[in-house]
Amino acid sequence: MAKKEEAKVRYISPLPELREKEYDPFLEATLQFERAATFLDLDPWIYQRLKYPERELTVHLAITLDNGRAESFTGFRVQHSTVRGPAKGGIRFSPNASLSECKALAAWMTWKCAVLDLPFGGGKGAVICDPLKMSENELKKLTKEYTLAIKDIIGPFKDIPAPDMFTNAQTMAWIADAYGQGQGYVEPAVVTGKPVHLWGSLGRAMATGTGLFFVLEEAAKYLDIHLEGKKVAVLGFGNVGSSIAKLVHQAGCTIIAVTDIFGGIHNEKGIDPFELEKQVGQTGSVVNFPGTEPMDNESLISLPCDILIPAAVEGQINRDNADRVKARIILEGANGPTTLEADEILKEKKVLVAPDILANAGGVTVSYLEWVQNLQRYFFTEEEVREKTKKKIKKAFWDVVATMDKYGVTLREAAYILAVGRVAESLTALGRAA
Ligand code: NAD
Repeated sequence: MAKKEEAKVRYISPLPELREKEYDPFLEATLQFERAATFLDLDPWIYQRLKYPERELTVHLAITLDNGRAESFTGFRVQHSTVRGPAKGGIRFSPNASLSECKALAAWMTWKCAVLDLPFGGGKGAVICDPLKMSENELKKLTKEYTLAIKDIIGPFKDIPAPDMFTNAQTMAWIADAYGQGQGYVEPAVVTGKPVHLWGSLGRAMATGTGLFFVLEEAAKYLDIHLEGKKVAVLGFGNVGSSIAKLVHQAGCTIIAVTDIFGGIHNEKGIDPFELEKQVGQTGSVVNFPGTEPMDNESLISLPCDILIPAAVEGQINRDNADRVKARIILEGANGPTTLEADEILKEKKVLVAPDILANAGGVTVSYLEWVQNLQRYFFTEEEVREKTKKKIKKAFWDVVATMDKYGVTLREAAYILAVGRVAESLTALGRAA
């Protein structure tokens, strides 16, 4: 049987399989990979090699809480691929974290780095905990314990963590310290997304939002529309949601709704994200922002608007709500916010979905620049970081569009075909196929 046919045989429509199951992030990621594989003449060994993570580490941690009670926590670090370079990917603190989620997020990082043509593979880590209920001191202890538990598999040339949900520059500084103590010297290149005074990069804090904005600008050019006056709804108002909200506001869009884990707000006349950010800094939530009505995630997803930006967790645009989406563009700030079943519905509705592995790659692109600066001990200006990022993201967008035109597929399918093809080519060049 021809190699291509073998790959095709494995790819039977995912939808019946998905309908029978609860949302499973790694199954979603696997089916996305399989879909791309059907378009590529993949060697069967390469197909099997890329389908599963290279390494999955589960660790059990114990810390003493502020109240004197000892508590244990479970954490993970998954390396999906190190074919094109060290694994790269964030660390998430969440009560809902799971190994399946880490495996999916690690695979998505492999494809994201390949779409951007960065010299990295993909990884992801998480600790199951409720960061909103923990003190800074407890989070610091937990982060350092977690770092010690994964220290053998991370490093500037092995696996480089970064912030993700409910982790930030401070978390990265704690990781750099715990890792450096073990090494006996400071090694800033072990993590990215650090504070600038600890060799972080200028521009990293807004990087994912900035990258999203570059993709949105190119998508608007592709659709031949202007951004000014467009209505935007943002689901999630953390690092990613707040930074893209500020940029679209500055570009003349009107933000009509924002939600977070506690609830949400709606005002057709517009919400000022800079004022909203101040409130979130004080109260921790967007809820009760003056001049707005309450709104939940489901209502936000079905709101008449031009641009919908999911910037929270996976699976929020799904088979139950995709047909109610009114937006012309979905700009995926979050990783995996749209399920495969929703993708099918959105394709029918001709909604342009700018997929996560392209749209939110600004974060990893600036992380790459931070790593480069750390290794050289030589630093770029903010303008240099911005220009280098813009160039990379714009090229990636049009590479994906060219792939879309070539294969007659969606932007997401094209991004996967491009990414899987690049990683497969690298594996072939390494001569590893057994
Ligand atoms: P964050 O912790 O800074 O913010 C997360 C936001 O989502 C918060 O406002 C939180 O309240 C909200 N949220 C969480 N669960 C929610 C729910 N069920 N419903 C509504 N809102 C909810 O995290 P972040 O760094 O902004 O990451 C958000 C998403 O973007 C994640 O999917 C992450 O993997 C992805 N991402 C982050 C980066 C980065 O650089 N931080 C880069 C690429 C992708």
